[in-house]
Amino acid sequence: MKPTMGTATSKQWLDRLWALKLPRRFKVMNVCGGHERSIAMTGLRKALPENVELVPGPGCPVCVCPEESIYQAIQLALSEKVILVAFGDMLRVPVNVRKNEIRTLEQARAAGADIVPIASPLEAVRIARDNADRRVVFFAAGFETTTAPVAAMVAEGMPENLSVLLAGRRTWPAVAMLLQSEAPGFDGLVAPGHVSTVMGPEEWAFVPEKHRIPAAVGGFTAESLVAALYSVLRQLVEDRCFLDNCYPEVVRPGGNPSARRQLDATMEVVDANWRGIGTIPASGYALRAEFAAHDTERIYPSFNDVMRKRAGQMPPGCDCARVVLGRIYPDQCVLYGRACTPRSPVGPCMVSDEGACRIWWSSGIRAPRDAARAHA
Ligand code: SF4
Repeated sequence: MKPTMGTATSKQWLDRLWALKLPRRFKVMNVCGGHERSIAMTGLRKALPENVELVPGPGCPVCVCPEESIYQAIQLALSEKVILVAFGDMLRVPVNVRKNEIRTLEQARAAGADIVPIASPLEAVRIARDNADRRVVFFAAGFETTTAPVAAMVAEGMPENLSVLLAGRRTWPAVAMLLQSEAPGFDGLVAPGHVSTVMGPEEWAFVPEKHRIPAAVGGFTAESLVAALYSVLRQLVEDRCFLDNCYPEVVRPGGNPSARRQLDATMEVVDANWRGIGTIPASGYALRAEFAAHDTERIYPSFNDVMRKRAGQMPPGCDCARVVLGRIYPDQCVLYGRACTPRSPVGPCMVSDEGACRIWWSSGIRAPRDAARAHA
């Protein structure tokens, strides 16, 4: 019996994948930290034919959060005496500062700043309500799936003492930038299920339609991921390309209309800086002018420090930007497992749970790549 979406096991999809007659080596990119985690933890790479490569791409919002935004959050917490709330991942992400200066939110907290890790915008609202005599800044970094609940919070009305330092990013423009470059570095795309749930799978139609590259939306189960990979490889073998939805039980045409409405109502799309990568057109969100009273960038001083910016976006030696763009694998960074580990991270990709370096470390890869080892 042929496997179909919803009934087939990952083993059945893998069997079909192995039965494909791949004429050459193919590289397939995923752009979701959740996908990369599932791939690394299940050991999927080792179960694939030699000539199939799975490369992690821009799937970690914390990793691309601009250095200046993190620095701004640190300085607001230290100098303006606000309560700074942020998703837990952000607390250990380092910025470039002179030796002996505070370089993470965690260090700022140890130095006395009032910084609280949170898991959802609801907690930010609760903290603001419980501290009506204090000013609370919500440092909100994330892709569409994280930014949509922030938009809902803004749309529904926020406490007066709460403002947002927004570092929301859109995923597809980063993939578009790669595809417009001379060497995109991949032959097929497994598109992110989470983002597609909110924004609709149609956002990824440009990949096959404009760039003639096969794409399939994948979920987070092994079945859905391998089905998406199989779909992309089969399209490559058959010299076809279309957008396949291999997560139909969750991803619906048009996405989540209410979340999209709230995003549109509260935020505008802007060109945005991606850490170590630079400005990507139409890749970020900014609060609309009518919410200026809750926009941290408009109501607090800027702590943008030119001297600090000259030091560069990434810590010296950190190859996170190339990891994020899928140009190298995490263990191809010379610092991986040596100077850089989760206990002592050098760059953001080793801090965040969605960072490829941290995921690879957690999956048991503990040393930089041996030059002789070609296949991760
Ligand atoms: S191993 Fe560390 S230094 Fe190297 S790219 Fe990853 S986070 Fe950056």
